[in-house]
This record gives sequence, C-alpha cells and structure tokens, in this order.
Amino acid sequence: MTGTLSSQSYEQNTQAIAKQLIAVMQGQQGSWFAQLRDQTRLEDKLLNWTMNNPGLRVQLFRLIDVLPALSTKAEIARHLQEYLTLPGVELPGALKQLLNFAATDSLPGQMAATTFSTAVSALAHRYIAGENIAQVQKTIEKLHRNSMAFTVDILGEAVITEQEAAAYLQKYLDLMTQLAQGSSTTGANSSKKQVSVKLTAFYSQFDPLDAQGSQAQASERIRTLLRHAQKLDIAVHFDMEQYVYKTLTLETLKELLLEQEFRDRDDIGLTLQAYLRDSYSDLQSLIEWAKLRGTPVTVRLVKGAYWDQEMIQSAQKGWPQPVYSAKADTDANFERMTQLLLENHAVLRAAIGSHNVRSQAKAIAITKELQISPQHFELQVLYGMADKLAQALSTQEHRVRVYCPYGELIPGMSYLIRRLLENTANSSFLKQSVEESGWEALLAPPEEGSPLIELQTSHTTPDSDYAQANLRQQAQEAIASVKRQLGRQYWPWVKGASAVTAFSRTSVNPSCPTEEIGRVGQGTVELAEQAMQAAKAASLGWQKTSVQKRASILRRAAELMVKRRQELAVWIVLEVGKALQEADAEVSEAIDFCNYYASEMERLEMGSDRNLPGETNSYRYHPRGIAVVISPWNFPLAIPMGMVAAALAAGNCTILKPADPSLVIAAKMTEVLVEAGIPSGVFQYLPGPGAEIGAYLTQHPDVHLIAFTGSQAVGCRIYADAAVLQPGQKHLKRVIAEMGGKNGIIVDQSADLDQAVAGVVKSAFSYSGQKCSACSRAIVLDSIYDTFVRRLVEATKSLNVGPAEHPATIIGPVVTAEARDRILDAISKGKAEAKLAFEIPVPEVGFFVSPTIFTEVPSNGLLAQEEIFGPVLAVIRAKSFPEALAIANNTQYALTGGLYSRTPSHIEQAKAEFEVGNLYINRSITGAIVDRQPFGGFKLSGVGSKAGGQDYLLQFLEPRVITENIQRQGFAPIEGIDF
Ligand code: NAD
Repeated sequence: MTGTLSSQSYEQNTQAIAKQLIAVMQGQQGSWFAQLRDQTRLEDKLLNWTMNNPGLRVQLFRLIDVLPALSTKAEIARHLQEYLTLPGVELPGALKQLLNFAATDSLPGQMAATTFSTAVSALAHRYIAGENIAQVQKTIEKLHRNSMAFTVDILGEAVITEQEAAAYLQKYLDLMTQLAQGSSTTGANSSKKQVSVKLTAFYSQFDPLDAQGSQAQASERIRTLLRHAQKLDIAVHFDMEQYVYKTLTLETLKELLLEQEFRDRDDIGLTLQAYLRDSYSDLQSLIEWAKLRGTPVTVRLVKGAYWDQEMIQSAQKGWPQPVYSAKADTDANFERMTQLLLENHAVLRAAIGSHNVRSQAKAIAITKELQISPQHFELQVLYGMADKLAQALSTQEHRVRVYCPYGELIPGMSYLIRRLLENTANSSFLKQSVEESGWEALLAPPEEGSPLIELQTSHTTPDSDYAQANLRQQAQEAIASVKRQLGRQYWPWVKGASAVTAFSRTSVNPSCPTEEIGRVGQGTVELAEQAMQAAKAASLGWQKTSVQKRASILRRAAELMVKRRQELAVWIVLEVGKALQEADAEVSEAIDFCNYYASEMERLEMGSDRNLPGETNSYRYHPRGIAVVISPWNFPLAIPMGMVAAALAAGNCTILKPADPSLVIAAKMTEVLVEAGIPSGVFQYLPGPGAEIGAYLTQHPDVHLIAFTGSQAVGCRIYADAAVLQPGQKHLKRVIAEMGGKNGIIVDQSADLDQAVAGVVKSAFSYSGQKCSACSRAIVLDSIYDTFVRRLVEATKSLNVGPAEHPATIIGPVVTAEARDRILDAISKGKAEAKLAFEIPVPEVGFFVSPTIFTEVPSNGLLAQEEIFGPVLAVIRAKSFPEALAIANNTQYALTGGLYSRTPSHIEQAKAEFEVGNLYINRSITGAIVDRQPFGGFKLSGVGSKAGGQDYLLQFLEPRVITENIQRQGFAPIEGIDF
C-alpha cells in the first residue's frame, strides 16, 4: 500500500471541491433527500421506516423480494400480513392501518395489496431506467440533455441454463443495434454509447474449478459481442460480480483483450471493487498488464454491491473474509486505488463510480493536480441513486456516465434490493447525508483500521476454494500422482498386519472401467474369525486407554487427512466417480467426524453426578465392547470414517467391512488410522463379500454393536439377524442402521424459481443422484408447475456429463455396471407410468446414465415411491400446499426433504409437519455438515441418532450409575460445611 491516502496536497483540494459540489447540490430542487424528508408518498415512507427500524427493514425487503412471485391481490395481501406481523417487527401507525383487514380477498385487503405493490413499483422505477428499450431511450435522451453519457445494463434472472446464456448474448446484440439507431452522444460529453455486461452470464456453468473450460465457453460469446459492438461503435464494459468469480473474470478478460483482434480496442472496460482486500494488488497487476497491451482499457472503480453476501458466504464456508468489514476501510482503499489508477492514466482510463461526494471530489482533485485531460477519465453513478451529485458534477464540466439498468421489474427485483440495502445501510453516504450528520464529518478522510466484524463462522473444516489457482494446481498434481499409483495390491488389515489372501477383487474407475484402481485381497470367514479374536484380545486394553489418548489418535488421523486431502479426494473421484468438488467436501466431512467424536467423547467422559450428603451418585459411560461397521460406497471415506471414529472414540474395538466398489479408499482410510497410531486389533479392515463376511460378523455372538449404513433391504436384514441370540451370546446387540430415502422437495408458488431450479438440479443430479439425501421427487404447485419444469429441463440440459476427473463435469458415471442396469430398468418401467421430459445420450465408455426427468408422475407409483439411487427425478404436480405436504410424507422413508417457499406460514407448516430427519428450507438438500446438520432419518430410513450430532456417541456406550454410601458410623463429609 502506498500510504499516501491523505497526501496533503490532494486533501485540501478534495475538501474544497466537495464543498463546491455540495453547494451546487443544495441549490437543486426536488432532490432525492428532499423527497425523503417530504414523506408524502408511500414509497418514501417505506424507505424512511426501514432506516429507523431494523426489524421492519428485513421484513419489508423480504416482502419486496417475494412480490414478483405473487400473482393475485389476495396473495399479496396475505404476504403483507404474514411478513409484517412477525415478532420483532414494529409497525408505524400508517402501516398498521394498511394491514387492518380480516380477509385477504376483502376489499380493504385488495386495496392494501394495490397500495403496496404500487409503492414498490414506484420505488423500482426510481432505480430502473425503463422497462423496455423505448423507455430507456427516453431516459438516455434526458441524460443527453444534461450532457451525461450512459451505460445500459439488461436486468435478468440468474443464468442457469445454456438457453438463457445464449438469450443473454442475443439480447445485448439487439440492444446495441437499437442503441446505435438512437441519437448520438452530445454536448461536452463525447463519450461513446456503452453497454454493461456480466461475464458469468455468457456461460451457464461458469465455474472457477473448470477455469479453462469456463473461460473458453464465455470467451466465444464475448467475441461475438465485441465484434458486433465494434461495428456499431458501441463501448462494452464488464461488470464485476461475486468474489468467487473475480479472478477468473479478470483472467478471461486479460487474455481475450490481448488477442490480436481486440488488442487495439480502447473502448472496453472492466471493473474493480474496492471493498475487496486484494483489489489494490489486482489494480497493480492490471497496470502491468495494460503496459504490455499498449492500448488502454477503462477501469471502473466501485466500492462493491455484494457486501452482505460476501460476508455471509465466507462465514458459512469458513473461508477468509474477502471484503473489508468496515465501510471506512473500503472508502480509504477506494481513495488509494483512485490515486493509483489516475497516476497511471497513460495506460488505464479511470471511471470513478461512487455516490459519495468525498470519493468523487478526491478523484477530481487528483486529476487536477496531475493535469489529466477530462477525456481520460469519467465519473459514474447509478441511475436514480445520486441524480443531484451527477448533475452537480456535470455542470462542473466533468464527464459523467450514468449506469442505467433496464428490464422488467420481476427479474429486476434483486437489483432493487441491492440498491435498497445500499441506500438504507447505516454506513451509507446517502443515508448519512439524508440524516444530515454534518457535512464536515462526512467529508473527513475515512479513518482506517476499524475493528473486524467477527461473524459467527463455521468451525468445521473448510472445503477447498477452487477459485484459488494454487488449489486447482494441487488438485491437478494429485490426479497425476494418484494415476501413477493405480493398480496396486492392498490387503486386509488384521491383528496389526496385512493379511495376504488367496483372492483379490479388482476395483475399476466407473468413468473408464478399463482403468484399474487397485486390487484388494478378499477376506474369508476364517479371516473374519481371526479379526474377531484379535479384537477381543485388544478390547480390554482399548477400553482402559484414556479418552484423551483415544481422542488424540483420532485428531492425528484428522491431521493426516488434512495433509492428504487433495490426494484422498482424487481416490474418491477415480474409484467411485464422484466429481472433484464433491469429493473434496467428503474429505472435509471425514476430518470433521474424527475431530467431532474426539471432542464429544471428552465431553461425555465427564458424566454427571447427583451427590447428596453421605451418598454419591455418578453416571458414567463405558464402551460396549466390539463394534462391526458396515459401510456403503457412496461416501466411501466419510461414512466409514464417521462410524469407525465414533466406535473407537467410545472405546470399542472395531472391524470395518466396507462396500465392494470402494475398497481402495477404505484401504487409504486404514493407512491413515494406522499411521495415526491405532493399536493392533483395535481397528481392522476386512474387505469381502457382504452376504458372507458382513453376515458372519453381524451374526457373531461376540459382537456388541453394529453400525450399518446402506440399503433398506440389507439394513432390515441385519436388524433382524442381530436380534437372534446366538449360542453363547450373553447380551443383546445394539444396531444403528442408516438406510435409504425417497426425498422430496416442495416448490410452492412463492418460491424464488432461480433458486428452486438450481437447488433441485443440484440435489437431484450431483453425484448422479447417488446420495442418500438426493432429491428424487420435486413436488411442485400447479400454478408454477409448467414454468418450473421448462427451466428445470433447460438447466439439466446445460449440465456437463463426463468423466468424474474432468473439472467441467457435474454429472459423472454411476458406480457400477449393475447399478447402471438397475437404474436403466427403473427408467424403462417409469416410462410406462409418467411422461419422460428429459433424457440425453451419454458417453458409451463408463457406467453412465443420463440425468432423467419424469413429469406428471403419479404420487403412488414406482417413480414416486421406490429408491432408485441414480439420476432420476420425478416431478409431481400438487394442487395446494397441504396436498404437496401430504404427497411428500406419503412414503415409507423419512430422511431428507426440502422446501422452496417465501410464504412464512408454509415454512412454519413444513417445519411442523414435514416428516423427515433433515429438512432444508430454501437451499439444496444435500451436503450435511458435521455438528451443523447432524444427519439421519426415521421411519424406514433408519434407526439411530443422527451422525455428527450430540446424541450419536451415546449409542456406542453403556451408561452405568454407581451409588456409594460414603457414610461411616454416621459420619460423612458434608459439602459446604467445614468441620
Ligand atoms: P448396500 O446395502 O447394498 O450395502 C451396504 C453394505 O452392506 C456394504 O458394505 C455391503 O457389502 C454390506 N452388505 C450387503 N449384504 C450384507 C449382509 N447380508 N450382511 C451384512 N452386510 C451386508 O448399500 P450400498 O449400495 O452400498 O449403499 C447405497 C444405499 O445406502 C442406499 O440405499 C442409500 O440410501 C443408503 N445410504 C444411506 C445413508 C444414510 O445416512 N441414511 C447414507 C449413505 C447411503
């Protein structure tokens, strides 16, 4: 950092210029601020109320967010009442009056709905330059009359399908053609006409993990855009969006703009956001790049519009906060960047985008001192946000450009919310100036170094952030390294040593079955018996090993997995065909299980005491004895590691029988535990045929506990077998069985369809639907059914199907040829009972099944009732919300469920009545995180407490109570009394 923030020469001029600007602004009539104080219109009152009442602010903005989805006045009236009468919302008198109606379809209800939606629409029009191109042209003409230039942005829904990405490009091509026909830029302002675009909207699967692919796909469309723009002499500016896309956006543009065809263009711009901590260094490297390029591009410097989202996202992911937490730090960085940008005006043109008078004044002061020609910089504001400032700047002969979003109000709602958040935030210059906190204070140099806002962050293991190039690089290296280790031999681990067996099973890559992952020795009943004897021999020692020691071994295992995380993820990718990002998240989960159960055992060890004078009562937990863990292949590391770590933490010697398709990963897990120091006989790895080895172990009289995760058929069988007392058995076995699901997501008419479609697609098709939590039924309300299905099909069509190791892949193979055939069989049966809405050809090599969507699915048929465990989604139509809930509950399972809704009463009803172990509201339904979303179901989805939750370890322990009479001859120490 330069440290020249308040370099004195600039500071004096900044103050003078700012005061001048304010004087001009105060002389203007009918300013936005004046309107606010005026308070005759409901929209102004709404804004004012939000500023004084944080509870109301949240609910009002949420209500505005849902408004476009509400199609009748009665619905609007209902939501008005539901949102604004929630606890914590203080209502001003006028709003109370508005809400004073009994029935939502009554006349007063209808009137309230009309009044409110009119106010919101007026509010939206304040920030949106028009709903169609004709209206925008009028706005542009008005700007011209005031000697201001414009940039037009088309408001849109999130681009989640390739059809939408193609339409986005087309809309811009058309827009430019129309702009070219409009009047040309005039007056002091010879700026070109300009459009602003969002780079990620050019490719629906834009994903930093697939940097190369995303870049190639987006660039192709951008080239078309730039060529068309050149023909029409229109400038193009690239906006900046969320942090996750930043690096790839910059890289894509840097590379593209060096191409011969575009290298000489000086009418292209990109954006930097000063609220990002690394934005200053981004600017530095952009300067170097611009020097190399030779022809300048424009940098629009803004503070950034996604602050809340960035703070929340980083807190949830456990990633470093990318933004400054205090507004003053952002302001200071903005000034520093302004200076650096302007000092390099020879190679980069500056566009200073801010509604803060001081920020703009500072830029002007620097340009004056550096004698930068007005042709080489411009000042920008957003339409409707700072009209008076723009006017004042323009009358002072500065080049001013106004950012004009246009489009229908519905897709424009998210834009409106961002503007409202900015306008009503306590730290906003706009709000402070409305409150007239004193111009002196407002114009003072920003004071840096405010304390960090510490949000509650996740304490679990963060997943890899593949937006970071170095992590992508590590993953690529891990793939290469693991590929060199393929085809090795692994053996069962029994009695602290490898047990060489007569037969081995070959594990193959489901994406490419000729690729051998490894060969794994197959246990026999004799070996299983040896393992059991070894476990019995080690049992007492392990029970007596201190909890601290047991916990430390598990924590060591967690550390080893942290070190090997990329490598372990790649084994998962290659052996069971899970895409990298999901495999990476699975490694996090395995690490979390070890740490969590270690801590949980330390907590439980304390037990509890209920002591009385002369009598102690202590409640303590003891290990059960010998545990058998039987795991599935779909979370080949996290699930077995979770069950094993719980059993070991609790002091039980444990034998793991992993699922056949994932034996190599289980061998890797064994390596980790052995290296972590697990003693001989305490943990043993026993691969082998489930029906033989699994059954032998679960029926063994010396087993105390069985932890099983897998299908319902096998789970029920184990449950039954375990109940049979074997000769010599002197205890009842404890069975924990986590089984299947037929998980539904309800989408009601108030849902945010962008979110709902993306969430259902992710929940249904990630890992080809082979997660126990996967969505296999979408239950959609009649009124939005067709729209939902149309977008769902398009979004699914846009997913990349391919080998799991390819970074662009979203849908990989299914696990085995048998799984593929079973799923295909279910699909062909499904064709007889419902309409096939989507199916595509898939790669021939590998065990691929097309993502498949059935619509108009009867709620009682096979598709709606049976666990298919593949990428097959049944979309069911429901007439009403209660009916949707009844359909959701009408299965034998109760594992996970989801709801997309913005109707508070529906959310409440779902919380109370949706019969599932894990309910997710307005998000995808997979990806439970240890301790945050303890996981597991009921009904035929399982018996047992939730994995990764506070009751889980109790199942691996026997509680015992010891009561001791400590009285001797009528004497006993009495607490609190000194003898
Ligand atoms: P699966 O039931 O076929 O196999 C699970 C394990 O049981 C394997 O290790 C297998 O070898 C073993 N096994 C098979 N027959 C046995 C027998 N007679 N005695 C003892 N063990 C035997 O299940 P899968 O195909 O590996 O996994 C997919 C299933 O797991 C799905 O139904 C899915 O919903 C379920 N699942 C549930 C959860 C959950 O937490 N509820 C999590 C993941 C998977």
